Amino acid sequence: MKLGRNDPCHCGSGKKYKKCHEAADAAKEAAELAAIQAKAEEARAAEAAEAEANPEAAEAAAAAAKKAGSRNAGSAGHKPKERIATAANPIRRRAV
Ligand SMILES: [Zn+2]
Repeated sequence: MKLGRNDPCHCGSGKKYKKCHEAADAAKEAAELAAIQAKAEEARAAEAAEAEANPEAAEAAAAAAKKAGSRNAGSAGHKPKERIATAANPIRRRAV
């Protein structure tokens, strides 16, 4: 549950939340979210880089992932190489 903006701040200052820690909390939340997204982006970029450096291994990894059913569950029948190249493009642009 979140504090209302007019409720007393959770820090015990006695001020209204909106006048006290609301901005700080929002910034903290945004930073945490950004950190999580950066981490995910990094993992995808590493995966894409690996796919580029070693397409055969990436194909094997994609096949293994498909077998495990952990992702891309609905895209059976596609050629893994094509799918990886398509997925890698937007990520590489950001990573470079
Ligand atoms: Zn506060």
